[in-house]
Amino acid sequence: MKNIMIALIGMVFFTACHPKIATKPVKTALFSEGNQVRNGNFTGEVWLNMLMPADTTYNSHIGSVSFKPGARTNWHYHPGGQILLVTEGKGWYQEQGKKVQVIQKGDIIKCLPNVHHWHGASATDRMTHLAIGTNINKGTVVWLSKVTDEEYQYVGE
Ligand code: MN
Repeated sequence: MKNIMIALIGMVFFTACHPKIATKPVKTALFSEGNQVRNGNFTGEVWLNMLMPADTTYNSHIGSVSFKPGARTNWHYHPGGQILLVTEGKGWYQEQGKKVQVIQKGDIIKCLPNVHHWHGASATDRMTHLAIGTNINKGTVVWLSKVTDEEYQYVGE
């Protein structure tokens, strides 16, 4: 009986000292979404937080770009190249003449200079990536045609 009482007291004490943690939803986004992009270079809802504007010391710029489901860039290329670091969600990336790649949190994508491509969210998931423009003295981006709904729907998985 004494042993049971000790066990019970021990349980109460243990429980009291170990409350459950984190019942609130955790905000996981690495950076805030910034401002909504409202120009003709994208389809759907896209947000941009320019973390480091064009910098001549580092010869690069860095932005966090957030795509809501279905949102994507137009076709484009970077004369100086670009590196994408996916920080949230799941999306699609395609280089001209190649199959679409599924990209997700933790992936690193190297967009070689002058290779035509597009990137964005998948049809059902949002996706955020850091976009690092490299060698920006050679030019940052040249925009091409829209990724049509037909091209985007063709993606599948
Ligand atoms: Mn790009």
